[in-house]
Amino acid sequence: MSKDWNKRTQAVHGGTRRSQWGEVSEAIFLTQGFVYDDAEQAEARFIESGPDEFIYARYGNPTVRMFEERIAALEGAEDAFATASGMAAVSGALTAMLKAGDHVVSARALFGSCLYILENVLSRFGVEVTFVDGTDLDQWRAAMRPDTRAVFFESMSNPTLEVIDIEAVSAIAHEVGATVIVDNVFSTPVYSRAIEQGADVVVYSATKHIDGQGRALGGIILGTRDFIRKTVEPYMKHTGGALSPFNAWILLKGLETMALRVNAQTDSAGRIAAALEGHPALARTLYPGLDGHPQAALVQRQLGGRGGTVLSLDFAGGKDAAFAFLNAMSIPVISNNLGDAKSIATHPATTTHQRLSEDQRSELGITPGLVRFSVGLEDTDDLIADLRNALDAAMAQNI
Ligand SMILES: *Cc1c(COP(=O)(O)O)cnc(C)c1O
Repeated sequence: MSKDWNKRTQAVHGGTRRSQWGEVSEAIFLTQGFVYDDAEQAEARFIESGPDEFIYARYGNPTVRMFEERIAALEGAEDAFATASGMAAVSGALTAMLKAGDHVVSARALFGSCLYILENVLSRFGVEVTFVDGTDLDQWRAAMRPDTRAVFFESMSNPTLEVIDIEAVSAIAHEVGATVIVDNVFSTPVYSRAIEQGADVVVYSATKHIDGQGRALGGIILGTRDFIRKTVEPYMKHTGGALSPFNAWILLKGLETMALRVNAQTDSAGRIAAALEGHPALARTLYPGLDGHPQAALVQRQLGGRGGTVLSLDFAGGKDAAFAFLNAMSIPVISNNLGDAKSIATHPATTTHQRLSEDQRSELGITPGLVRFSVGLEDTDDLIADLRNALDAAMAQNI
C-alpha cells in the first residue's frame, strides 16, 4: 500500500487484505467471533490486539477493517471507525468525546436527525449547544467560549446547499482548542480535502455516495489514530453501533466506482442546473456549481469548483407547484435518499424537515416550494427533457 497514491487508486486498492486463497475481490467475513489457538492467546488478545487480530465483530471484523482502511487512505485520515449508519457516526463522534458541562457550537442548517442529536439528545446529558448561521464567520467567532469542546457543521447544508468554510471555521475553533467535526456527505469523499483544510474529524453517511446504489446503510468516523482508537473505538464497541460485514463489503465495492459515479453525477447536475435556471416556474435554482451561487469563490477554493450531485429548485408557485412538478416527472423517483444512481427528488418541508416548525423552516430557507433533487446516472439529456416537462406542469399551478 502506498500513501502517495491518488484518490482513485486508493479507492480501488486501499486497505485490501487477502486471505490464504489470494482472492481478487475482497472477502466477506460473515462471522461474529474469532477462534483462539489456546487460552493464553485469548488472554493476550483481550489485553492488546494487533492489527490482524480480532475478538468480536462489534469491536472489529476483517471486512469492516478493509472498508475503514480504504476510506481512511482516500480521505487522508490516520484512521477510521465504521458504523451501522451515518447517524451512528454523527452521534458516536459527538457522544464519544463530550461530557456534561461541555459546550458545542453548531451550524443551524442541519439534516433533521443531526439537529435532533444536537438539540434534543446532547442537552439531556448536560451539554450546551449554541447554534449559528454557518456561513457567517462573525457568528462562529462570537459563539466560541473557553469551554467549547466541539464544533459541528455540514460542509454543504441540506437542502439549501450553503457551503461552510472549513478552513476559516477550523481556525476559529482551534483558537479555543475545540475539536472540529464535519459532516461531509454533500461534499463527498471524492471532492473532500477536509482534513487538509483543518477539520479534526470527518463523518460520512456511507448510505449516500459511497454505496451510491441504494442498497445498504453505513457510516464512518475519520480522524487521528488517537481520536479513533482512544475516544471513538471504546465508546462504539461498547454501545453497539458496529457496521455489518456484509454492508462493509457492499461499501468497499462502492468505493471502487465512487469517483466515476460522483464525477458523472456532478457533471450532469451542473448541466441540469444551467438548463433549468431561469425557468419561469422557479423562484430560485440552488446549485453550488453555478457561477451565480453566493459562495462560488469558496466552492472553487474548498471543492475545486465541483458543486456535487444535488441541486435544489424553489418553485414560485409554492407547495402546489412543487407537488405538480414531482408528480409529473417520469424518470426520477420520489424518495428521500441521495447520491444514488437513480435520480431522486424530495419535498423537504413535508418529509425530511417536516418535524421543524414553520419558523425554523423559514429561517433555514426551506420554503413550501423547495424541491431537493439528487442527480443520478441516467442520460443527462433525458433528465433535462423530463424535468422541463415537469416544470411546465408546475407552471400550470402558477396561473
Ligand atoms: C443521510 C445523512 C445523514 C444520516 O445518514 P444515515 O446513513 O441515513 O444514518 C447524516 N448527515 C447527512 C448530511 C446526511 O445526508
